[in-house]
Amino acid sequence: MAQEADLVIRGGLIADGSGGEPFIGDVALTGGKIAAVGPNLAVRGREEIDGAGHVVTPGFVDIHTHYDGQVTWEHRLRPTSSHGVTTTVMGNCGIGFAPCKPQDRQRLIRLMEGVEDLPEPVLAAGLPWNWTSFPEYLDSLAARQYDIDFAAQLPHSALRVYAMGERGVEREAATPDDVALMARLAREAVEAGALGFSTSRTINHRASDGRHVPTLTAAEEELTGIALGLKKAGKGVLQLVSDFDDIATELPMLRRIVEASGRPLSIAVAQWNHAPNRWRDILDWVAEVNRDGLAVAAQVPGRPIGLLLGFELSMNPFMYCASYKALANLAVPERLAALRNPELKARIIAEAGALGFSTSRTINHRASDGRHVPTLTAAEEELTGIALGLTRAGKGVLQLVSDFEDLPTELPMLRRIVETSGRPLSIAVGQWHHAPDRWRTILDWVAEVNRGG
Ligand SMILES: [Zn+2]
Repeated sequence: MAQEADLVIRGGLIADGSGGEPFIGDVALTGGKIAAVGPNLAVRGREEIDGAGHVVTPGFVDIHTHYDGQVTWEHRLRPTSSHGVTTTVMGNCGIGFAPCKPQDRQRLIRLMEGVEDLPEPVLAAGLPWNWTSFPEYLDSLAARQYDIDFAAQLPHSALRVYAMGERGVEREAATPDDVALMARLAREAVEAGALGFSTSRTINHRASDGRHVPTLTAAEEELTGIALGLKKAGKGVLQLVSDFDDIATELPMLRRIVEASGRPLSIAVAQWNHAPNRWRDILDWVAEVNRDGLAVAAQVPGRPIGLLLGFELSMNPFMYCASYKALANLAVPERLAALRNPELKARIIAEAGALGFSTSRTINHRASDGRHVPTLTAAEEELTGIALGLTRAGKGVLQLVSDFEDLPTELPMLRRIVETSGRPLSIAVGQWHHAPDRWRTILDWVAEVNRGG
């Protein structure tokens, strides 16, 4: 071994990617390549980095991202590039921005906005649209510089809208001519450098106007045709996300597509609450087709998928409640105004399956910026209104924590709320140093109102 290297990273915890136990050691690099790895390397680096306390690994490869927009205006693929990822794959789940005819730009933006919650104003301002075809999109990216490497996939939604226009958006069946066109464009895309082709068959993916993705119900003929386009190119992977609600039909179909095309398939596998063991069936199937010599892999996220929830976003915790759905089409300011109605608020909470409603009236509860909780001094009218919402729902408990600094005012108020709403109330009782007997007074009051029914 040379006694000198360009760079030595000393004493880091080395996880070399082989799957073995991590170990403390040194890594020597020369000419941009690893020259030696081991404990206490007897080599001097022209530059040395103290790796103690750090993990030293090869760069990670992230095989599922949606940077299709960001790469057109950013040089850094953050946050991915800040996480130790050195190669990322984008264009997953059939969504992206190429190919695209000028009249369809807004459509593809709404798709990405709905599926990935990338805001329309950001995409509209950022996308340069200096492409129509997928190869032109790659050319546009190739002219730019990036902090990490990436690979792009041809997204089915964009391809379908490009080939079929409004019929594609409306999820009409592709004609043989449509399929032939998509197959040719898919072949051209991978020949120009696309890593492969991606599609989505999940009802969780919707455009921001609420419509399902164009590819949700694409027929086997269409998927096979496109896969055969990749076969002609002699390269390219297939990537798919699905609800897998009908695995008896869908898995055999996927098998036929892989058999016909000879192209490798990668599918996203999650755990579904309503079918908690389905992932086992899918992984069993993956093992089975692998035994039969077919290249199928499952993409299993290292962490659960995170969702952005908010009234101004495409998803929020109340989106499936009937009372919220009635407001869902209002513009954000009008919707927020309507939601200020305490009764409606309570109804939505009850519909969401909440156990009840809780509030705080203690100065011990503060936001991290030091401000009191917004509910500290909520008026009796507000609390009564919310409690009456639970009354309408016919269920739900009230829970309250308070400093109880003004018992003669607060306890009668709570009594009136319970009397008016008929909902059970649960209060937190502590012992306060500055009022060591207050808990007795409160428990006496609890006993009294319980006696009163
Ligand atoms: Zn995705």
